[in-house]
Amino acid sequence: MKFTELPLSEEVLAGVEKAGYTDCTLVQETVLPVSLTGKDVMVQSKTGSGKTAVYLLTILEKYSRNNSSAALIVSPTRELAVQIEEDAKLLSAGFPDYRIGCFYGGVGYKEQNEELSSGLNLYVGTPGRLLDFAKSNKLDFRCFDTVVLDEADRMFDMGFYPDVQSMFAQMRKSEERQTMLFSATLSTKVRNLAWKYMSEPEEIAVQPEEITVKKITQELFHVTKDEKFQLLLSILKKQDPSSCLIFTNTKDMAVEVAKRLVMNGYKAEYLMGDMPQSKRLKTLDRMKEGKLPYLVATDVAARGLQIDDLELVVNYDIPEDFESYVHRIGRTARAGKSGKAITLACEEYIYGLEPIENYIQMKIPVVWPDEIGLEKVEDKSAGYHYHSRRPQQKRAERSGERRKGSKQKPVQRKSGGYEKPVRNDEKEYAKLSKMSLEERMAYYKSEFGGESVKKSAKPQAQRVQQQKKSVENRKKPQPAKPQSEAVKKPQPAKPLEGQNAEVKSARKGLFARIKAKIFGE
Ligand code: ADP
Ligand code: MG
Repeated sequence: MKFTELPLSEEVLAGVEKAGYTDCTLVQETVLPVSLTGKDVMVQSKTGSGKTAVYLLTILEKYSRNNSSAALIVSPTRELAVQIEEDAKLLSAGFPDYRIGCFYGGVGYKEQNEELSSGLNLYVGTPGRLLDFAKSNKLDFRCFDTVVLDEADRMFDMGFYPDVQSMFAQMRKSEERQTMLFSATLSTKVRNLAWKYMSEPEEIAVQPEEITVKKITQELFHVTKDEKFQLLLSILKKQDPSSCLIFTNTKDMAVEVAKRLVMNGYKAEYLMGDMPQSKRLKTLDRMKEGKLPYLVATDVAARGLQIDDLELVVNYDIPEDFESYVHRIGRTARAGKSGKAITLACEEYIYGLEPIENYIQMKIPVVWPDEIGLEKVEDKSAGYHYHSRRPQQKRAERSGERRKGSKQKPVQRKSGGYEKPVRNDEKEYAKLSKMSLEERMAYYKSEFGGESVKKSAKPQAQRVQQQKKSVENRKKPQPAKPQSEAVKKPQPAKPLEGQNAEVKSARKGLFARIKAKIFGE
């Protein structure tokens, strides 16, 4: 459909032409006929599908028909707000008197104050700064008869829900304004918001964001906590990615991994959720420019940041929340490119695996380091650990909190740090930690690998014997395999239903065993 076929005035079409658009995108031809009638809409369409023009053209057409006082567009980030302002300037080219203002945090109030008091047709801004102005009576949310909530899902991710609620509470009644909500995904939270603050919104889902995990090459390594970093070094050496984002579950671990990478000669930095956004964005920019190949972050730190086109995502820790797995690995393989996601499964976070596999409806293919010819790399940071120096009391509380379900109390060390409670299985782990990487892998393979079902039927002594043998065999120099065989491609993931019931129950048993080991249940 051409824009000229829509009920748009000449001035609005002049802007469309200025922007260089001729044909509508799918979301534009589907939503514009509805939104131009003044109805509330709740639109789900994937990133890059042209949602901005949908609401901007609706707003401009209302202006040209002289039936709009002022419009508000709320954006989760400053960058997006600026982008919207630019698009609005282009599309309003046919209205020389149309006044647009952009309001976001991180800059002084003076200039924005002046803009506000001059009276505008379109206000674009981030929740925090808009609320600031409302608090100081410089902005009255009741003046808006058109309100747009852009990237509603990200708004939630970034914790703006209370702010959004507060803004809506200060607006006129929902029947007295047109409200439009746009999102790449329509989660229950987003829908709830829509039902609460919109007036009979029409829900239009055009192109849903695909959960792209199927296009991503996923690999899972079983490894103990103590040897994760060693394995990471081997993986990075083999992959040699041009850009790599590594996720950890805690801030301390993010710092530790980044520092240890630097000690090993990698250009790496870490992101923290409590860093100012401007600093996080600067770090990201350097990554986008190719100046920073490795970034280590927690989920909170990466929240709300547009990090695309990564060659490799590493889950150094399995995320504790299964949806995070998709968010994390979705940052690779954007726009049809190939990408890879590697997950390191250790005893501490392995419980997260089952919910993830249920959620993504597939089993993450397990890879064994020896099978893909991973070399052991010297770790120049061996033995280094990072602990932030928080006040002792606070730390005690934290560690006590985290272990609410456990009967064991955290043990305070004299140095001020905290030791983990002594586990019942400490001895077994001590034994494991003395094994070489190869031995450990053999152990894990026999314990957690697909063969475990058969092996577990054998008496313990026989298993140990066989394990030893296989480790010895592995140590013997082996004739070089042809390339195609040496580098085995990961198995395509099988859907859960199709899985061998035996393997499935072995996995279940594994979770129970590890749970029992750690919690002593
Ligand atoms: P979304 O908000 O859905 O992620 P945008 O509105 O930012 O997507 O649009 C993505 C890109 O497509 C922008 O560069 C925009 O200028 C361009 N675009 C939007 N509509 C059209 C169109 N009808 N024809 C050509 N390009 C368009
Ligand atoms: Mg958009």
